[in-house]
Amino acid sequence: MEEIRLQKAIADSGVTSRRKAEQLITEGRVAVNGEIVSELGSKVTMSDKIEVDGVPVTKEEKVHILYYKPAGEISAVEDDRSRGTVTDAFKQMDARLYPVGRLDYDTSGILLMTNDGEFTQYMTHPKFEMSKTYRVKIDGILKRDQQKEMRKGITLEDGKTAPAGVKVIRDKKDRQMILELTIHEGKNRQVRRMFEHFGLEVIKLTRIRYDFLTLDGLAEGEYRFLKPHEVKKLI
Ligand code: URA
Repeated sequence: MEEIRLQKAIADSGVTSRRKAEQLITEGRVAVNGEIVSELGSKVTMSDKIEVDGVPVTKEEKVHILYYKPAGEISAVEDDRSRGTVTDAFKQMDARLYPVGRLDYDTSGILLMTNDGEFTQYMTHPKFEMSKTYRVKIDGILKRDQQKEMRKGITLEDGKTAPAGVKVIRDKKDRQMILELTIHEGKNRQVRRMFEHFGLEVIKLTRIRYDFLTLDGLAEGEYRFLKPHEVKKLI
C-alpha cells in the first residue's frame, strides 16, 4: 500500500494545509492508531487511523469555490470576537472549507474557498504568486508621476513592491479616483499600504480578478464551484 507523509495525509483530508498539519503534529495534536505522533517524518498508509485532537480524519472530496466576499467578513474559519467570517455562507456544506489566503475585513471580491490542502499550498506559495487585480477607489488623486513610481515598485516598510499594473478608470473631478491595480504578490494589506505610501486613503477595495478568474455572473455574497478544468489551469 502506498505510504505518504503524515502531514500530507492530513492535508489531503481537507482538515488544513500541509504547513498547518506539520504544526498540528509538532504540537502533539495528531495520533496515528491511537498513539500521539509529535515528530515530523513519519509515513502512513490508507489503513492507518489518523486523529486530530481526537477527531478521526477521513478523506473528503475536494471542493474549490470562487466566493464573492462582501466587505464586513473576516477571512478565517472562526473569529475570536464573534464577527461574521467567510465560512458562514458555507455552513450547510459537509466539506470543511477555509479561505485560500485572505482579504481584509473591509475588502470585497474574489476569495477562493477550499478543503484542498495541496491546492492551498500551491496557490499561496510566494514562488507561484498569481496575478491579482484590485479595483481601488481612493480619496484623492494618484498623480501621473506617482502612478509611474507605483508601476516600477515602491518601498514599503517590509521591502520593495514588484512592478505593478496601474490603470486609471475614473478621475472624479480631482477629488476621488478609481483605479485598477494588478499585483503579483500578497504582502499584508499591500494595496492599502501602496496608496498610504502617497498619503492616499483607500475608500473601497474589491479584488476583481485572480489569475484568469473574474466575478462575472456573481453578486456580492454569492459563490460558484470551480470547474475541474479551471482548477487544473490554476495549479
Ligand atoms: N491588499 C489590501 O490592502 N487588502 C486586501 O484585502 C487585499 C490586498
